Amino acid sequence: MTFRAPKGTDDILPPVSRTWRRLLLTWEDWAARYGYELVLTPLFEATEVFARGTGEGTEVVQKQMYTFEDKGGRSLTLRPEGTPSVVRAFLEAGADGILKAAYWGPMFRYERPQAGRRRQFYQIDVEYLGSREAAADAEVIELGYRYLIDASVPGLSVQINSIGDRECRPAYLEVLKEYLESRRDVLCDDSLLRLTTNPMRVLDCKICAPKLSDAPSPVDYLCDACTTHYGEVRSILRELGVPFEATPRLVRGLDYYERTAFEYVATDLKAAQNAVGGGGRYDGLAELLGGRPVPGVGFALGLDRIVLTLGDVEEPNPLDLYIIVTAGRRREALRFTSELRRSGIRADLDVESRSVKAQFRAADRRGAAGALVIGDEWSEGRVVAKDLASGHQEIIRIEEVEAWTRRL
Ligand code: AMP
Repeated sequence: MTFRAPKGTDDILPPVSRTWRRLLLTWEDWAARYGYELVLTPLFEATEVFARGTGEGTEVVQKQMYTFEDKGGRSLTLRPEGTPSVVRAFLEAGADGILKAAYWGPMFRYERPQAGRRRQFYQIDVEYLGSREAAADAEVIELGYRYLIDASVPGLSVQINSIGDRECRPAYLEVLKEYLESRRDVLCDDSLLRLTTNPMRVLDCKICAPKLSDAPSPVDYLCDACTTHYGEVRSILRELGVPFEATPRLVRGLDYYERTAFEYVATDLKAAQNAVGGGGRYDGLAELLGGRPVPGVGFALGLDRIVLTLGDVEEPNPLDLYIIVTAGRRREALRFTSELRRSGIRADLDVESRSVKAQFRAADRRGAAGALVIGDEWSEGRVVAKDLASGHQEIIRIEEVEAWTRRL
C-alpha cells in the first residue's frame, strides 16, 4: 500500500525547495531591516478566535475551516490565517505599546484545490500593532513591496483602497445594498447570499465583479477622518517611492478590515490566482476578540503563489563544495569537511564509500560549485580541486582551499 499527500497539500522537495529557502532567507533579512521581530503562535486555536476574529460572515469561517474536537472536548481550528492569533497573543500577554511582528508558516483552508489555491499553503505575515498612524500603513505596504521586488516577482502592482470604518461604512453599505438589489439578475448564487451577509464581498466575486463596474465604491462615502487617513497613506507612499494604483473597488475577504485595504498583484501571472498578497488595517479586531482596543495593520503574502510567479528559476548553488572521499582517507575527509563548515563554507560529503565516479555524479546532482578530492595528494598537503561549472581541474594546497572556494 502506498500513501499520497492529502488532497490540496504539497510536498516541497529539492530542487524547488531551494527557491523556498531563498525566499525565506530574503524575508528574514527584510523583516529585520524594518524592525519586525519574530512572533510564533500555535498552529491551532480555540475555534472562537477565528469565528469572532476572521468573522462569521466570511467564506473562510463558513466553509473553509479545519475544525475538530480534541480529546478534552474543546473545539479547535487549524489556523486559516495568522492575524487573529497574533492579536490574541498580544492581548493575552497584557502587552502594551507597539509590537511589530513578523512570521511565516502554514495556513489551512478547505478550498477547492487548483494551482495557487491549496488546502495547506504558506504565508509570510507582518502585523504592526499599537498604532493608528498612516505612517504604519505605509511602512507595512512598503515592506511587502520591497520584499516582493527583491524576490523578483514579475509584473508586480500594488493596489490600494480605503473601505471606510465603523463610522462611515454603514451608510456606504446601505447604498451598495440598494445598488446590488437592483442588479440581482446578474448576481451568482454565492453573491445573492452575500448580499445580506457581507455585501462588500460581492465586489470581490470573480464572476460578478466584471458586470458591476458602475457599483458605488467605498472611497466616495468616506468620513473626514478616513479621507484624511487615506490621503496620508498615499502621500507617504509617494514620499517613499512606492508605486501604487488607487483601486476604488478593491475590497478584502475578511471582515475585520477597515480603512486601508491593499493587494499585491503579479499582473504577469496568467492564472486566476494572481494576488500574491494582501492586507489592511484592522483597528476593531482586538475588541472582536473581547480585548481592549488595539489598532493594527498587516499583510499576508502567499508563498506558494510567489513561487508560481517565478517559474523555473535557476537557483544559485546550494553547496560551495562537495568533498570526494577516496579509500583510506575517510577520517581526513570527515575532519576537513568539518573545518570547512566551521569556516563558513557550505560543504558536504558522501559517507557511503561509493566510487569516485558516483561521488562526482552526486556533486553535480547536489548542485555544488566545486569538488575536492581527498586522495593520495593529501599526504603532501594537497588536494585535487575541480570547478564543476567550467570543468577546470588543478592541484592546490590545503591552505588555499578556502580562498579557491570563495573565487568559484
Ligand atoms: P488572505 O489571508 O485571504 O488575505 O490571503 C493573503 C494571501 O495569501 C493571498 O493573496 C494569497 O497569495 C495567499 N492565499 C490565500 N489563500 C490561499 C490558498 N488557499 N492557497 C494559496 N495561497 C493562498
